Amino acid sequence: MEQNLFVYNTLTRKKEEFKPLNAPHVGMYVCGPTVYSDVHLGNCRTYISFDLIFRYLTHIGYKVRYVRNITDAGHLEGDADEGEDKISKKAKIAQLEPMEIVQKYTVGFHDVLQIFNTLPPSIEPTATGHIIEQIELIKIMLQRGYAYEADGSVYFDVEKYNSTHDYGVLNGRNLEDLLNNTRTLGGQDDKRGKLDFALWIKAKPEHLMKWPSPWSVGFPGWHLECSAMSHKYLGDQFDIHGGGIDLVPTHHTNEIAQNIACCDKNPATYWIHTNMLTVNGQKMSKSLGNSFLPHELFTGEHSILDRGYSPMTVKFFILQAHYRSTLDFGNEAMEASDKGFKRLMNAVSLLDSLKPSATSDVEVAPLRQRCYDAMNDDFNSPVLIAELFEASRIINSVHDGKLKLDTANLEVLKNIITTFVFDVLGLKDEQAANDDLPKVLNLIVNLRNEAKGNQDYATSDKIRDGLQKIGFQLKDSKEGTNWSKI
Ligand code: AMP
Ligand code: ZN
Repeated sequence: MEQNLFVYNTLTRKKEEFKPLNAPHVGMYVCGPTVYSDVHLGNCRTYISFDLIFRYLTHIGYKVRYVRNITDAGHLEGDADEGEDKISKKAKIAQLEPMEIVQKYTVGFHDVLQIFNTLPPSIEPTATGHIIEQIELIKIMLQRGYAYEADGSVYFDVEKYNSTHDYGVLNGRNLEDLLNNTRTLGGQDDKRGKLDFALWIKAKPEHLMKWPSPWSVGFPGWHLECSAMSHKYLGDQFDIHGGGIDLVPTHHTNEIAQNIACCDKNPATYWIHTNMLTVNGQKMSKSLGNSFLPHELFTGEHSILDRGYSPMTVKFFILQAHYRSTLDFGNEAMEASDKGFKRLMNAVSLLDSLKPSATSDVEVAPLRQRCYDAMNDDFNSPVLIAELFEASRIINSVHDGKLKLDTANLEVLKNIITTFVFDVLGLKDEQAANDDLPKVLNLIVNLRNEAKGNQDYATSDKIRDGLQKIGFQLKDSKEGTNWSKI
């Protein structure tokens, strides 16, 4: 924590020194996915970026409570409280229970993030698990005059709120400006103002996910869940609130208004937003039909892909851009990342074989400091990666006998790689993992055969059945035992 970390804050539109409210504790809330379909690569970019932030804060000594929610109810098709609930709609089409949809895509989300080697959050609360907390917040907003009820639904009164607060504080726009850029109310006669948004929505009879409330049997508005869950787990005020930049104008703007209406405080000191992954300059999005799944990128089975790439190559591609820049997907860019990642990993694989010399031609400590400087400058992963390429160049030169490093400098070099390649960027050496698997399996098979030779059939069967359970089959023949993947 001796690092002077600077973070770009959407709220103030400048880079600020990171000063947590209650160091060494840091509270961080990131808006999670709406689990009605598989997450696409754009969504993954956002979660990989916050994983980088989580990893770095932890590395420099903070104790981070990272809360990332699951939106499993209340997110309608349109931002302006229009359309059906996304999960209910999918459930009807698939003739499944909404919670079957939620389970399927939550599991899929976790699987994908694990493939990308991201760390799990500290708490992963769901919207449906916090209906009571959401109802309580609505009661406070009604009581304090910031909300009104109309025919069983409850709305937030934006103009009333703005008379004493700044509704457009997050994107720096005033109310008049926002009103002029908003469509007129269409079929939403219950709302008094164009910018008003739903806190509670009375359910139509055919609506699947609904709960009793003092106003009607209905469901909460999307923005409310994040106010309720961040408040419950991180308190009135915490350090970081994050999400994709597309959440600024509506979701996060409304969240701030709700929290201030309830407890007079903007919930987070630093609002951090990731920029979009684009395809041919257009935001990758399910609704635009230009999205693809990480799995399709791994296999190459998609019309816009020339071939498949490994998960760590894809992660490297994402980390080679700063989280606040847009990143355009393309086959050429992927090829360049593939080359770059291999170059880095080849150097890393040589590290253990390097022999120290009595003297050093260079001092490596300044390079390590430059790695920290890059991360301290608003988590600048592309600059960090450029420094890691410099580390690779040094490794290769030492390996080729063109450069000498003494023991101390060699240790610093190893520390740079462990810290930044593995701990901070969260990359994995896929080649090493692939090479090691056969070695480990052969060892297990030999142990099993030894047990069998000693007529310890209980142990040998246990090993065979255990391997079978995790997807490996053993075949005994005169030549020995072979294993294969089932
Ligand atoms: P959603 O499930 O649509 O609410 O999105 C989950 C997260 O992914 C949100 O933080 C979005 O801002 C983010 N997101 C959506 N599309 C993209 C994209 N093309 N690039 C980066 N992040 C995105
Ligand atoms: Zn949210």
